[in-house]
Amino acid sequence: MRMTPASPDPKLPPVRINLMSDTQTRPTLAMREAMARAEVGDEQIGDDPTTIALCERVADMLGKEAAVFLPSGTMCNVAATLVHCRPGDEILAHPSAHVLTREGGAHAALGGFQITPLPGENGVFTPETFRAAIQPVSRYSAPQRVVTVEQTANVGGGTIWKKSTLDEITAIARAHKLITHMDGARLMNACVATGVSARDMAEGWDSVWIDFSKGLGAPIGAVIAGTDTFIDEVWRWKQRLGGAMRQSGICAAACLYALDHHIDRLADDHANARTLARGLAQIPGITVNQPETNLIFFDPTATGITTQRMISELRKRGILTGALDHRIRACTHLDVTATMIEETVSAIRDIASKA
Ligand SMILES: *Cc1c(COP(=O)(O)O)cnc(C)c1O
Repeated sequence: MRMTPASPDPKLPPVRINLMSDTQTRPTLAMREAMARAEVGDEQIGDDPTTIALCERVADMLGKEAAVFLPSGTMCNVAATLVHCRPGDEILAHPSAHVLTREGGAHAALGGFQITPLPGENGVFTPETFRAAIQPVSRYSAPQRVVTVEQTANVGGGTIWKKSTLDEITAIARAHKLITHMDGARLMNACVATGVSARDMAEGWDSVWIDFSKGLGAPIGAVIAGTDTFIDEVWRWKQRLGGAMRQSGICAAACLYALDHHIDRLADDHANARTLARGLAQIPGITVNQPETNLIFFDPTATGITTQRMISELRKRGILTGALDHRIRACTHLDVTATMIEETVSAIRDIASKA
């Protein structure tokens, strides 16, 4: 088993349609120009004006006291639990959550925390499931410290946590003195799809972060927000983890540009996702989720083609998709047009018909 991704096969044509992930977005020329013009300083000593502006803007957007710029969303999750928890503490999360499945066991390796899965449909657990998982405080059980949700739920299919459900979760957490953490990798997708502001979505959550290197189209970076005290502690972990930066304003400028230019357009990605799902649903043997945002999961196995085979046939035609959770994930984003979606549907129909 290779531990590193395979390098591109030289026999394959170049990728023309990249649906593998919204992390695949490339910075636009205008974004690169904003980066080139960025005023910079030394972020580690609190002296980079563009990074400071970004953090102030995101803190305000999310209705929190303060924020800090980190290299990745993963570091936001890891630094947050390192602040919130002590060794042996329990974190409650959906079994498909990034914290549990895709962070290399960081919460156990670095913090000594255990994650208890709270199952539920489409990456979302119910308030009842959460309530039922709460244990009376005793010397036998791990101290239950944090409940976390993923907005939107990635492997769940880009599912949106409704504002009303989020409110129920935070109310239960407060009643039992649990800390609330929102992994907002795609929070802005949820906001654009529902019309609920980021501030309202984040209301009542102790720590919240947004990712800039996904659908927002920046090359690097995520910003986590919370109270002044929490952010001070995140800064310490940022230093410890080696995430404190220098002229990070170059990257922060891309994030500021994304906030100005790449939020409303997420609606186009959602429309493209719906078109793709509609097209796939018409192909006999393909099952597909109804996307609420920009993630489409489909299963071609009933056509007689395995997911791996479908992925490799698509790749031969210059279309890149990814395997996730035994299905194929296609992700719409900044670099995917409506025409590319049409071409993808035709390609999948053609491959399925030859099964
Ligand atoms: C991508 C992702 C992350 C991690 O973000 P990176 O910036 O890639 O480290 C965390 N949570 C969810 C739900 C994600 O989709």
